[in-house]
Amino acid sequence: CDYSPDKGWHNARIVPYQNLSIDPSTMTLHYAQSIFEGLKAYKTKDGHVNLFRPRENIKRLNASCRRLCIPTVDEEFALTAIKKLVDVDRDWIPEGDGTSLYIRPFIFATEPHIGVRPSTTYSFVIITGPVGAYYKEGINPVKIYVEPNYVRAVRGGLGEIKASANYAASLKAQVEANEKGYTQVLWLDGVEKKYIEEVGTMNVFFIIGDEIVTPELSGSILPGITRKSCIELLRHWGYNMNERRISIQEVYEAHEKGLLKEVFGTGTAAVISPVGELCWNGNVITINNGKTGPISQRLYDTLTGIQYGKLPDEFGWIEKV
Ligand code: PMP
Repeated sequence: CDYSPDKGWHNARIVPYQNLSIDPSTMTLHYAQSIFEGLKAYKTKDGHVNLFRPRENIKRLNASCRRLCIPTVDEEFALTAIKKLVDVDRDWIPEGDGTSLYIRPFIFATEPHIGVRPSTTYSFVIITGPVGAYYKEGINPVKIYVEPNYVRAVRGGLGEIKASANYAASLKAQVEANEKGYTQVLWLDGVEKKYIEEVGTMNVFFIIGDEIVTPELSGSILPGITRKSCIELLRHWGYNMNERRISIQEVYEAHEKGLLKEVFGTGTAAVISPVGELCWNGNVITINNGKTGPISQRLYDTLTGIQYGKLPDEFGWIEKV
């Protein structure tokens, strides 16, 4: 649908996937007034389609809108739009563990204008595409590079929203980490380069002794929906789960003392991504012998169990389509 100051959001429609036509001076191309979300629809054995906490994605979409001076969308309207689109795509949703329909809602400035100010017009578009299993041969721990030079986001910036520009800021470090043989970058805070923020497109958890810790929402990391779900599950299971500042030095010292038991990333794409190796300032830290740990595995099995309707939806996280 489209936004104009006189009509608000209007002209909602579902059309076949096609090109968009834009003016070369469309503001989004120049000033990055563009935000997005990512969520998945899962086909269950009994033929239902499950969405996992879609209202959380819509709330985060609106938080992104507010930060970038984009008009927000009505939560019920956006949920209905997602459900209608998933229903149209129902027959293309793959079946089987790990597979899903990826849903990408995004909003961008459409006004052709060269001066810097918020656009007056916008488009809200949702595209979808079937995705195969993230883990084809069982969960596979990843190797992560602690980024010493580049900064992805600082407090007061855009790090806590899903702005397209954040991903542009992270590309260079990602490419360099890949060249060194690492899958993803672990970002440190932008001021002291001491405290852990998040990993590429995931939040990150550490199991140190009998404590599970994830960086607090500092204002520069994305409040992940998988992160929130893991915190809720871990507390429900009785673990000592804390959100607090954690320095890379603390992680390294825990490793030296033999207390670093598991590290894992959380995000919509992989759900849980165990970390087998961390590289920080030339120190290579191997975690759990490079294997998936029991808590990472339990979280993965529980979250995917709920998503595919194999486990009861105890927490009311599923919206059926
Ligand atoms: N951090 C960043 C930067 C991300 O792009 C994502 C993926 N949306 C996450 C964390 C994880 O968020 P979620 O669990 O909502 O997918």
